[in-house]
Amino acid sequence: MDDFYREMIIDHGQNMRNRGVLQPADIDYEDDNPLCGDRLRLTVQLDEQGRVKAVGWDGQGCVISQASASMLGEAMIGKTLEELRHFSKQDILDMLGIPLTPVRLKCALLSLKVLKAGAYGLTHWTGEDED
Ligand code: ZN
Repeated sequence: MDDFYREMIIDHGQNMRNRGVLQPADIDYEDDNPLCGDRLRLTVQLDEQGRVKAVGWDGQGCVISQASASMLGEAMIGKTLEELRHFSKQDILDMLGIPLTPVRLKCALLSLKVLKAGAYGLTHWTGEDED
């Protein structure tokens, strides 16, 4: 594993950015990854222009799931709801920058799954509609 990415993942995983629950929140969604025991709750506040003003992540899990949420949270600031919906699996993989096994991929994509479900106001987003 590349040292730069490894250190960044460990740093984000252990010191998650934007940790907390925002109240009131425009988006509030929670889901888990039973394969690993990762759980994430996302709360988002939008400003008057409909852009992300603040992000709050709550939950616990492995370093990959926490780091993915932390990095995604930073990337979400200032984005519109429509832009949030366009975050892709590849965006997450690019942020993490390391090859992932199928099991780890579930950990990495939990944050995206929660974001998509929250941004679309859906109860479930399977990830099947993303390439
Ligand atoms: Zn995990």
